[in-house]
Amino acid sequence: MFKDKLVKPITALVNLTPDRLVKSFCGQLVPIFFLHRMYPGYDVTDRSIVQHLEWCLEYIRKNNYHPITLKELVLSRVEQRTLPKKAVVFTLDDGFYDQYEIAEPLFKKFDTPYTCFVISEFLEQKLWPWDDQIRYGIENSKLSVLSIDLPDGSRLNFSRVSDTDEAIIAKIHHQLKLLDQTHMYAWLGTFYQQLHVEQPAEIPEHYRPMTWSQAQKLIDGGNDIAPHTQTHRILSRLSDIESEQEILGSWNMLKEKLKGAAPVFAYPTGRIADYSEREMSTISQSELTCAVSTVPGHVKLASKNENLPRFVFPDNRFDFIQYLSYIEAMKEKISRH
Ligand SMILES: [Zn+2]
Repeated sequence: MFKDKLVKPITALVNLTPDRLVKSFCGQLVPIFFLHRMYPGYDVTDRSIVQHLEWCLEYIRKNNYHPITLKELVLSRVEQRTLPKKAVVFTLDDGFYDQYEIAEPLFKKFDTPYTCFVISEFLEQKLWPWDDQIRYGIENSKLSVLSIDLPDGSRLNFSRVSDTDEAIIAKIHHQLKLLDQTHMYAWLGTFYQQLHVEQPAEIPEHYRPMTWSQAQKLIDGGNDIAPHTQTHRILSRLSDIESEQEILGSWNMLKEKLKGAAPVFAYPTGRIADYSEREMSTISQSELTCAVSTVPGHVKLASKNENLPRFVFPDNRFDFIQYLSYIEAMKEKISRH
């Protein structure tokens, strides 16, 4: 791959640039990465994500970056303490079993702590994420023409001759994120019926959560477990009461179930439209010390703790190094000028 050829030169450039030069031009920069599943598709034996992550964690160590937890990052911001040089943070979203079973030994091998944001009702096994159920439904439907009535009464039509499953899933996700999500889980029953797919009575193997005791083991091993709502519904599409309940209810559940849950939060799906001032104010008035989004960017001195950006963990080495170092921030700055 062409980009791989650039790994050596970009590493040399980054390592040769004096720290004070970066600081004076870009200020202090901390990247927070977020990851999701530890294997692509349904093939648990596919090691491609694990191998890529392993390369990146090794890179961090060799090039003297300093992995810290999100909790530590926020604490040093609040107390205005100096951060370790070249600090970097890893986070994993939702609380799937592989985020313990596969991720934990890998991160441990490189002494890198991570924060796992868990959906509390998912760990309780009372539900599994609605967005994954959309995927499951579509991938298991044998119909060649799909007609789906959404919760607001509007209809989406697809032909599986012209539309790929990925495109159909993306379109349904997109539409649902714009609608009132109060009755999302009740609506899923209708969704499965329309697809002629039997609604799973239990969470399918691939989609199962980690257990509470695995979550506790993560904490005991120096990682963090933190709240990611109760049900993963989009907060900006819920009433005031429900939005607050999703945030504080998940935090309270974690405190009840775990010793040492971390008071940091992640907005479900986390795009700019998925949360608002209302959610940020719930966070700042609570025990929670920060909330992260999925809006890309480095954490800077001026970032608000209730609204910290994160980079999706890139699938290639070159982009990883750009986000990890100052390159991405420099590019952003230059393009703005
Ligand atoms: Zn999530």
